[in-house]
Amino acid sequence: MDTRSDDEILAHARTILRASRRAVALTGAGLSTESGIPDFRSPGGVWERFRPIEYGDFVCSSGARREHWRYKLATVPVMLEAQPNAGHRALARLEQAGRLQAIVTQNIDGLHQAAGSSTVYELHGTNRAAVCLQCDRREPIEPVLARVLAGDEEPRCDACGGMLKPATVSFGQSLPRDVLEESIRLAEACDCLLAIGSSLQVQPAASLVEIAKIAGASVLILTASATPYDALADAKLDGALGSTLPALVDGALILDG
Ligand SMILES: [Zn+2]
Repeated sequence: MDTRSDDEILAHARTILRASRRAVALTGAGLSTESGIPDFRSPGGVWERFRPIEYGDFVCSSGARREHWRYKLATVPVMLEAQPNAGHRALARLEQAGRLQAIVTQNIDGLHQAAGSSTVYELHGTNRAAVCLQCDRREPIEPVLARVLAGDEEPRCDACGGMLKPATVSFGQSLPRDVLEESIRLAEACDCLLAIGSSLQVQPAASLVEIAKIAGASVLILTASATPYDALADAKLDGALGSTLPALVDGALILDG
């Protein structure tokens, strides 16, 4: 139990971030809720209206493919209209100051890139693209969704005729190997891991916290809910990310200057 006040914990976290030279951020759904993107795992979320797709079903079942594209029609436009919030922008400033090596994100909304971050590893893929399962060709999601809306219920690749799938990672589908390997390498090599807006329940993303800690990094957890890794955190901040994250980042950078 941390008996320090919120201000004392924030000051401690700033000191740690100020000393860091190769931080890495791991981000989850909590960072994007202030951009109006619901956590799809929360009660009342859209997952209660649509059965989460299994990758094998998508490949094998025409009905499953049609339902999955209807689900994307219902959810992706909200993400495409969302704007990055003050938390996303704070991480972009940290990178621009040369103090953040990369962001590893569980989010599929593309808001880090929209905020100006350039090195972003998307563990669970992205809702902003569709990918051909046969030739790996990627294309922006908008024209594909427009085709679905116009009645093309199972869109196919223009190049090879293969099945198109939203470029998100489904249940039963492997995480992109290169992204996962680079994420592990980053966790091993960082000197400060910032775990932000993730309840750290989903593997293997959550294990990156442990990998970083074992390799000697400081761990800062910025998440409202309890996580399985709170006990190994050097500081745990549970305030609203849109204010806490800029307070942490800008405080560290000002001290730095
Ligand atoms: Zn193709």
